[in-house]
Amino acid sequence: MLKKLLVFLALGTCLAAQQNPPEWTRPFPPLRIIGNIYWVGSWDLSSYLITTPQGNIIINTGVGDTAQQIKKSVETLGFKLEDTKILTATHGHYDHVAGLAALKRMTGATVMISEPDKVLLETGGKADFRFGNDEYARFEPVKVDRTFKDSDTISLGGTVLTAHIHAGHTKGSTSFTTNVQEGGKTYRVVIANMGSINPGVKMTGMPGFPDISQAYANTFRAQKDMQIDVWLASHASQFKLHEKYTPGAAYDPQRFVDPDGFKKAVQDLEKTYLEQVAREKAGK
Ligand SMILES: [Zn+2]
Repeated sequence: MLKKLLVFLALGTCLAAQQNPPEWTRPFPPLRIIGNIYWVGSWDLSSYLITTPQGNIIINTGVGDTAQQIKKSVETLGFKLEDTKILTATHGHYDHVAGLAALKRMTGATVMISEPDKVLLETGGKADFRFGNDEYARFEPVKVDRTFKDSDTISLGGTVLTAHIHAGHTKGSTSFTTNVQEGGKTYRVVIANMGSINPGVKMTGMPGFPDISQAYANTFRAQKDMQIDVWLASHASQFKLHEKYTPGAAYDPQRFVDPDGFKKAVQDLEKTYLEQVAREKAGK
């Protein structure tokens, strides 16, 4: 069972099971990733804290008591949760946004999300083309204060995040890029929303997302063109956090530099997508 679960996680499939995998809620000590970017997520669900002199940004939550876990992690790192000014996410599925409503109450931060995923946040997942009717995928709705489109930027205290709409997984799945200066070098960082396909999703088209196949194709093309140094993603398993880092290891800005790993992961997901397209064409 555990092995099966790990296979799901290794494939970067989220929402694979109706029961939350234990890795989603298991606490994990926070760490400094590079420069002003920190991990404040659980064992597998990424939450990123980006600190600036004018307040902080949090990207993604987990599920369960995620808001309290994130608060604890932020404080363990020596920061204050109430300094959070912006809350955003890589996509509007419950395993990445279920804690946004609580965090908004706790911080008063501005909630931002891509224009297409706004409706997911505001309906607590009911508007999702795949999971809309699945009770387990519901979460507390949260009012969105601002939306962004492809190539829009989010700026705070000298940090600039560029949003890249990498649709398919949801209609507004987003990768964020930013440049981090560290030790006299500039690192191009991506927090990528990888193009994994959830069980039950058809590339021939979903009633709520007829052009889904084209969206995935565009995403793979765009991601293969990205020039990045540091690769991060929505799940720890996707960018192999636990192979690259063990708790207690010293801060090392090089640790997550992995342009080849990113490229290969995109190629592998594209292969899976193309195989599914072929299977569906063959009527299987
Ligand atoms: Zn998802």
